[in-house]
Amino acid sequence: MPLTTVASKLGLSELAPRALQSEIRAMTMECDRLGGVNLAQGVCDTEPPAVVTEAAIAAINAGHNIYTRLDGIGRLRTAIAAKMLRFTGMVVNPDTEVLVTSGATGGLHAAAMALLNPGDEVILFEPFYGYHASTLKSLRMVPVLVPLAEPVTAEADWTFDLEALKAALTPRTRALIINTPSNPCGKIFTREELEALSAVAIEHNLFVFTDEIYEHFVYGEAEHLSPATLPGMRERTIIISGFSKTFSVTGWRLGYLVADAKWLGAISYFHDLTYVCAPSALQHGAAAGLEQLGMEFYTQLATDHLDKRTRILAALTDAGMKPYVPRGAYYILADASRLPGANAALKARALLAQTGVASVAGSAFFRAGHGEDLLRFCFAKRDADLDDACARLRSL
Ligand code: PLP
Repeated sequence: MPLTTVASKLGLSELAPRALQSEIRAMTMECDRLGGVNLAQGVCDTEPPAVVTEAAIAAINAGHNIYTRLDGIGRLRTAIAAKMLRFTGMVVNPDTEVLVTSGATGGLHAAAMALLNPGDEVILFEPFYGYHASTLKSLRMVPVLVPLAEPVTAEADWTFDLEALKAALTPRTRALIINTPSNPCGKIFTREELEALSAVAIEHNLFVFTDEIYEHFVYGEAEHLSPATLPGMRERTIIISGFSKTFSVTGWRLGYLVADAKWLGAISYFHDLTYVCAPSALQHGAAAGLEQLGMEFYTQLATDHLDKRTRILAALTDAGMKPYVPRGAYYILADASRLPGANAALKARALLAQTGVASVAGSAFFRAGHGEDLLRFCFAKRDADLDDACARLRSL
């Protein structure tokens, strides 16, 4: 089958046409060739906590190298349930409501396979995270985009129009995907917004998949709230999160999913089909992290990233690329209209050629024709690398 046919089958010609993963990887290779700083991929190369890595190494040496129960080791499920209680107040049964997954990515994939059917429509807010749209597309489900309004000032928030959301619903709508805090725009859905979304979900009997992988990256006054904690929402909400970002272990492929027991069996079944289980020794590492790291770890994580955010915001402003201030997560969308190039992918190339800083074309997060004046910068970088990137940006 020619590649173009594959692309159109997956709907890739309509979603993120020019800035697919391959484009991000091409930027990474070019950045390496130039010896530049990669703020493109959300790899976050900050140090993982020692307690996490040491416990994983100890687990390998202790022989935890074989398949685990399909929903994960009891120790980790118990630690996740305790974490849910600590951070959300939710009482979660570790034996029936928690699934340890192969990353948040594996969690969403399994949940979509278990709970949705080909042809089902799923609401996504735009700008969206590419994997959300692509996962649905690969399973022949239909992402329906509801645009968030671009902030009117750098400090203002991305907002959604409830009427636009309602207008996007059809008899085939089965679910909403919320990403809070969001990649790429850092939006944190407020209580009022989540209440409005919940009312829609309840009225139309929709699942809400909530990707909360950046739950601990929250700045200033903003507060992270899971829609599962709102009245009437627990049963229909599938919480997806993981350790990639919080423990800086993106390559470990370790996440989790929390859902009502009546859905968890089917989701676990599909997760088993693709992944069998999450990496066994690494589950011990994550469990040790959840068990032993106190509140100060999470506070420090947010403080460190707030500081990184401040530095890159200043550099982007100095470089004449007006940044939108993210309330959470660790990405910044900035206005790249001053850069040469007819579209965002070319602007990203121009920035890389001129400064050695790699970014992602904003068009990767919008429907075709949108986001062409935006670039996304990841700031979860070691301080020295971030400072280098900031100096390079200022040289523009
Ligand atoms: N969800 C969002 C919104 C992300 O931005 C990312 C990574 O960039 C992921 C999920 C991936 O999570 P994981 O590594 O747990 O699969």
